[in-house]
Amino acid sequence: MIIDGKQIAKKLRISIADQVATLDRKPGLAVILVGDDPASAVYVRNKDNACKEVGFYAEKINKSADITQTELLSEVERLNKDDKIDGILVQLPLPSHLDANQVIEAINPNKDVDGFHSENIGKLMQNKAYLRPCTPKGVMTMLATTGIDLVGKDCIVVGASNIVGRPMAMELLNARATVTICNSKTQDLPAKLKQADVVVAAVGIPKMIQGDWIKEGAVVIDVGINRLDDGSLAGDVDFDSAQQKAAWITPVPGGVGPMTIATLLENTLTAYKAREEK
Ligand code: NDP
Repeated sequence: MIIDGKQIAKKLRISIADQVATLDRKPGLAVILVGDDPASAVYVRNKDNACKEVGFYAEKINKSADITQTELLSEVERLNKDDKIDGILVQLPLPSHLDANQVIEAINPNKDVDGFHSENIGKLMQNKAYLRPCTPKGVMTMLATTGIDLVGKDCIVVGASNIVGRPMAMELLNARATVTICNSKTQDLPAKLKQADVVVAAVGIPKMIQGDWIKEGAVVIDVGINRLDDGSLAGDVDFDSAQQKAAWITPVPGGVGPMTIATLLENTLTAYKAREEK
């Protein structure tokens, strides 16, 4: 069965829009884009459009590629203090002269809707998080729609980045699964994958994971988004062969991607509610 991320994300957006319609003050999201990387510009535009669609107040802030670290930090500080803004997102990657980590740490953790601030990551580690990184949280929402109980399941996360692999592993552990995290040095990945009830691929290598590495009846979540030479998109999983083995599988495009943006909106609403309750 296909896990239809587009459809699940649409339902989530409708539910958010319904809640926003009842609010006096609209939840506000600021997205900062530095430079003119075309892929980042598309992501930012999609996020801005998604905000407007659900009735959020959206601020799209474009800064030139030669902005200094100090100028960028003072922009973040301005947004930290702005009462209209509940969520702040700095589109990554930043130009190489800027220190992305310092910028993320400058965001007020209560407005950190990407969930990348060390305070929010620390809370995720302790299973106390309320602003959780969007992509892994979106994957958990997708897994929930299958009705599969993750407790005691063998799960493998292929990839260990700070934004996807590591928080993904923590989400699965928090759901009481048994989790293996793989990286580029992992020995005999196919043998490990053959044991897994749930596979999450977040590597960045097109079609790397083959169908005959997948256990019969497994759930396969493909986070990868890779642009092929012909301009088309492919995931990290070889979809055609993997779908012969998997009970549930996500397509690329139309899988995890739409969930990331819908979860960003969900996090912004969560941050809004927390601020309103104070
Ligand atoms: P990174 O490049 O930051 O991390 C890749 C990870 O994969 C690293 O931990 C690396 O290991 C590991 N890796 C590399 N080669 C192998 C291998 N042969 N076997 C096992 N592990 C390997 O990537 P991201 O996590 O940022 O992104 C991963 C993919 O997900 C990309 O395609 C990206 O475009 C996509 N993505 C999609 C999103 C969505 O919304 N759907 C959101 C974010 C990302 P090591 O630690 O040893 O280097």
